[in-house]
Amino acid sequence: ARRNPDEPEFQQAVLEVLDSLSPALSRHPEYARERILERLCEPERQIVFRVPWRDDQGRVHVNRGFRVEFNSALGPYKGGLRFHPSVNLGVVKFLGFEQIFKNALTGMSIGGGKGGSDFDPKGRSDTEVERFCQSFMTELHRHLGEHTDVPAGDIGVGGREIGYLFGQYRRLANRWEAGVITGKGLDWGGSRVRTEATGYGNVLFTQRMLERVGQSLDGQRVVVSGSGNVAIYSVEKARQLGATVVACSDSTGHVVDERGIDVDLLRQVKEVERERISVYAERRTGARYVEGGSVWDVPCTVALPSATQNELDADAARTLVRGGVKVVSEGANMPTTPEAVRVLREAKVLFAPGKAANAGGVATSVLEMRQNARRTSWSFEHAEQELAEVMAGIHDRCEEAAERYGAPGDYVLGANVAGFERVAGAMLAQGLV
Ligand code: NDP
Repeated sequence: ARRNPDEPEFQQAVLEVLDSLSPALSRHPEYARERILERLCEPERQIVFRVPWRDDQGRVHVNRGFRVEFNSALGPYKGGLRFHPSVNLGVVKFLGFEQIFKNALTGMSIGGGKGGSDFDPKGRSDTEVERFCQSFMTELHRHLGEHTDVPAGDIGVGGREIGYLFGQYRRLANRWEAGVITGKGLDWGGSRVRTEATGYGNVLFTQRMLERVGQSLDGQRVVVSGSGNVAIYSVEKARQLGATVVACSDSTGHVVDERGIDVDLLRQVKEVERERISVYAERRTGARYVEGGSVWDVPCTVALPSATQNELDADAARTLVRGGVKVVSEGANMPTTPEAVRVLREAKVLFAPGKAANAGGVATSVLEMRQNARRTSWSFEHAEQELAEVMAGIHDRCEEAAERYGAPGDYVLGANVAGFERVAGAMLAQGLV
């Protein structure tokens, strides 16, 4: 805390991991001797830069850009870019730190990094977003490369933004280097299922957790928070597996739709029209919109927080428990506060941390890089099958590590320990760098 003041999210993410690691540390004294934890908590490189751009009225704006290249022991830095007014260095560091363990858990060769800007794309025209992305990439491009650092999307960065970012990279580098960014369009190096991957992956992870206790998603009542990329495809996959998704939200309110959220309408409103979630309720008979309030007031058996950090607090967790929740699986990064996690654990709710449950997105990014390297393009079915195998692998690695440390069913401990052991092993083998 002394070394990173004013970075509460980063401190929270580090403490959550450290909490789980004491059994692993006592079994491996070499970790302490080589100061692996201290090295892990200090990013390899942090880039902070000015992003000036001009709006449609000719006015000049100045935003701040970030890229935190956290750890490359396992491969090139990999992690998304977030464009949201709440972005600051501490937020990017928390996301980058989580990303190290998440990427390690996939079993793939990727290090951890994250970036973004305090730019708010909401209400901005396409041309303004284009100019912003070009200015942002004008600085960032010199730090990227398929063997160095490979960004992707996150909050506020979807297909449109990735397009503008890739275009500017290609122009500045004078190179068509597909592997430099992921989440690309299908006609220019993208992978099928990348758009769906994080949401689908989280639901597949949930299904596997339920199977372990002799249940399934079929017939479950699901609530998803958010209505962005992760949320939309969580809704779609949950429906495919027989669940009814009765509510979702955005930062202004939530909708309750007892017949089950209509994914096509949700995509039309949020992805195509970039409208508020209230518009969904206006167009769907039987659905109602609740301004403000909490989506966690809607009773459910499965909760999939898929909006942002610290969106599910202890009060919300108690409400969920009273409503009969059996599973909480994090689609977003660190959406559940530490107090809320304690409430859920005491109530014996199955809980999956984001670094395991939402790793389907980054894993499919690596599948995109593989297809780019082989100059090939897989079918939807093939890419989805690969995603299912990756999620099963992540689940089982967490499960195995939790059992090995005498805490069966503890996915938090399992994810932290399994991710840590892989990174720490690589750091030890590679010496003091
Ligand atoms: P999007 O920008 O597509 O959607 C974000 C959604 O969350 C929107 O509905 C947004 O509402 C809501 N939201 C964002 N910030 C807040 C806030 N402060 N309070 C309330 N609601 C908020 O982002 P993604 O779906 O891509 O990302 C969602 C989460 O999933 C993030 O935590 C991200 O880090 C994580 N994640 C994403 C991955 C990906 O592949 N995209 C991969 C792994 C994790 P509004 O429109 O009103 O702002």
